[in-house]
Amino acid sequence: MQQQALDLSAIPVIDNHCHAYINYEQPLDARQYRRLFSEANSAAFTYEHVPQASYYRWALKELGRILDCAATEDAVLAKRASFSLPEFTALLLGEAQIEAMLIDTGLGGPEFLSLDAMRSLTGCRIEWVLRLEVLAQHLIAETHDFATFQARYLEELRDLPGRGIVSLKSIAAYRTGLDIQPVTDDQAATAFAEVCEDLTLGQRPRLVHKVLIDYIVHLGMAQAAAQGGIPIQFHTGYGDPDTDLRLGNPLHLRPLFEDSALENVPIVMLHESYPFTREAAFLATVYPNAYLDISYSVPFLDYHELLACTHQALGVAPWSKVLYSSDGFSIPEHGWLGAIHGRRVLADALRSMIEVGVLDHDEALTAATAILNENSRRVYRLR
Ligand SMILES: [Zn+2]
Repeated sequence: MQQQALDLSAIPVIDNHCHAYINYEQPLDARQYRRLFSEANSAAFTYEHVPQASYYRWALKELGRILDCAATEDAVLAKRASFSLPEFTALLLGEAQIEAMLIDTGLGGPEFLSLDAMRSLTGCRIEWVLRLEVLAQHLIAETHDFATFQARYLEELRDLPGRGIVSLKSIAAYRTGLDIQPVTDDQAATAFAEVCEDLTLGQRPRLVHKVLIDYIVHLGMAQAAAQGGIPIQFHTGYGDPDTDLRLGNPLHLRPLFEDSALENVPIVMLHESYPFTREAAFLATVYPNAYLDISYSVPFLDYHELLACTHQALGVAPWSKVLYSSDGFSIPEHGWLGAIHGRRVLADALRSMIEVGVLDHDEALTAATAILNENSRRVYRLR
């Protein structure tokens, strides 16, 4: 029997987790470029080994195709340098068909474009995802008085939708782990004093105190619940060496899923919780407010690994609980590569589900539309 092709190219993607671009004034050299394709911290390591990574080999081939040049690093970087950032962005996004980007502004410094600059550069709908730990760090630099800190933190979380914030985000996994416990105000005040002890006013800490991180996450989620259920994204699984992967297993999130006061807050487990995709898919299957994000660009997984993760997600979780993202950052390549992988891997996973009689063609198309687009529209209430 001739199988109908599963063409997902007409479905625009909503990228439910990514970061802003950097406005490079100079063309990137090989050393800088390779660093943008790795989560490793060591520049020497990245320079030596990224060219042997399957993701990078594939990225160069896709770049050679769209830039109409040889699929080599030299040729790609030379051709890339002949474009301005707006021209290059337009070329890649023209193919990627990204309807909206939900941008976590917690990654960054002055070199990252603002949300407004991203709006005018990409022409995409751009929405703001607020990273809680970074907000807290800003505030600690400004006050060493706990009551003032608490009041200002709550003030910054007031009327999130009115201020254009569609989701909160936590990187507790990177700092002290996902086993996030309730904390009293007294415990938080003591932890706050300990954090401030070694700081001068104006100095921004790198927050690594578990009690204080757990506190600000709970305070943030309580605000999200009180405002009708604003989602929160958690970094889970694979990250740079800052993360202790053992503590990034989403199974640690159980107390949050079990907390009835937070049941209206959608909890999005980012990055297919790699390699804990099955664990995350299980959570998305048993907890109504648990959602599993599949980041199709970062972490830098190749086709086969992403296909395996997609099967693991859809083999357990309803497709209404799975969201597409790229986790792209700094350069337009990642969001574009994520869209290519996302549509291709999803189509192949769904096609094999059709082949064995799990889905029919229309159901597969419905599932693809949900994952690439509609689930994010619903969860983040994008009107
Ligand atoms: Zn990210």
